[in-house]
Amino acid sequence: MDIQTIGIVGAGQMGNGIAHVMALAGYDVKMTDISEEALKAAVDTIQGNLSRQVGRGKIAEADMTAAMGRIATTTVLKELGPSDLIIEAATERETIKQAIFEDLLPHLKPETILTSNTSSISITRLASRTDRPEKFMGFHFMNPVPVMQLVELIRGIATDAPTFNACKAVVDKLGKTSASAEDFPAFIVNRILMPMINEAVYTLYEGVGNVQSIDSSLKLGANHPMGPLELADFIGLDTCLAIMNVLHDGLADTKYRPCPLLTKYVEAGWLGRKSQRGFYDYRGDVPVPTR
Ligand code: NAD
Repeated sequence: MDIQTIGIVGAGQMGNGIAHVMALAGYDVKMTDISEEALKAAVDTIQGNLSRQVGRGKIAEADMTAAMGRIATTTVLKELGPSDLIIEAATERETIKQAIFEDLLPHLKPETILTSNTSSISITRLASRTDRPEKFMGFHFMNPVPVMQLVELIRGIATDAPTFNACKAVVDKLGKTSASAEDFPAFIVNRILMPMINEAVYTLYEGVGNVQSIDSSLKLGANHPMGPLELADFIGLDTCLAIMNVLHDGLADTKYRPCPLLTKYVEAGWLGRKSQRGFYDYRGDVPVPTR
């Protein structure tokens, strides 16, 4: 199937990044969110990020103008009906994602491919509740989308080859690299990354190190470009907790138990960069550890 129009559900940090790269690659994008402000903020963010790319000489000004012209927004989910490909990038909660697909189904073309950018939720289970499990798969971008090279492509048990190939062709057109992952909790990247982040939070919780010593240890001692707590703030602590819960529930192994301190930060609404506070406080000129 030749994909030309892409519907994106959720205009948060992932949704806006996906819209950015798709529009730049020449796809017509329609993005929806339940929040009008989120849509406005997403368009501003995309404009800002594209301008930065122009400033650095990575794209021409005309590319930016053309990309912005290919992005439309709406708060009405069913307006995404005519899309060739749907990428759902709403909040990491299964009930939310399930309700989105349910509401969208009656408005879709029979050939529309459905995908989710979920970091951890079972693709097979999400697919099974739609009318097209063979045309459903995981399309997992990394954050920040315009910068990160990898896209994990996850086949559900019923995903057919034409669907996989069509999604792979989109990744190729973006100039990104795909890695194929089987549909087990958190797939590849987060199966490995999140337990490390969770362990970093335990290290903080148990007083083995403070925020700064933990982050500099992994940066300077393991050559990681970001410390694990800094990275957790970047991803969003609610998303990190949701992924740990999926690993814990899905694999039934206590080694995936979310750290109580991670839960506490989420309960406080300290979700990381997106809420200005997490393991660091971002409200000043430079991030300062909150513990
Ligand atoms: P976010 O909190 O920044 O954005 C989520 C958006 O979804 C919000 O704007 C919210 O208003 C919207 N939303 C909630 N319910 C909705 C509904 N019913 N219809 C339409 N929009 C709705 O979250 P995010 O970080 O962009 O994550 C989105 C998805 O991407 C999640 O599934 C997450 O697991 C996945 N993901 C996140 C990262 C990351 O690093 N943050 C990386 C890869 C994948």
